[in-house]
Amino acid sequence: MPRTTAAPRDAVWTLRLRREIDEILEREAKKRGVSKNDLVKSILLDWAYRNGYNKVLHFNFRNTTITLWDFLLNQTVDLTLMEDRRLFCEHCRAYSCGHIYYALTSIPEVARKARRGEIRTE
Ligand SMILES: [Zn+2]
Repeated sequence: MPRTTAAPRDAVWTLRLRREIDEILEREAKKRGVSKNDLVKSILLDWAYRNGYNKVLHFNFRNTTITLWDFLLNQTVDLTLMEDRRLFCEHCRAYSCGHIYYALTSIPEVARKARRGEIRTE
């Protein structure tokens, strides 16, 4: 797993997990092509979005890209509308994550497109 250098103000945790959970995370991280560290961050963000700890300051929707400003990550996140009409999160490398959840539930234009079937939700 590639190590990333923590920014000075980042909190660094050591987490003890049962081996079975670690193996699930390992498999999912490989499938997505991300590090286990980034996968766990993505899972935590998903929880944050689904529980109201979200704040998206800005978004654009042009052509097939939705750009969100993720307050917790302090960076932009791009969602791509794929040919099969599903949204793909370029940050989480996944079709299901907190960013997609947020876009579908909180951005009226995206919610409208989902209702009309222009964006597939499953
Ligand atoms: Zn995401």
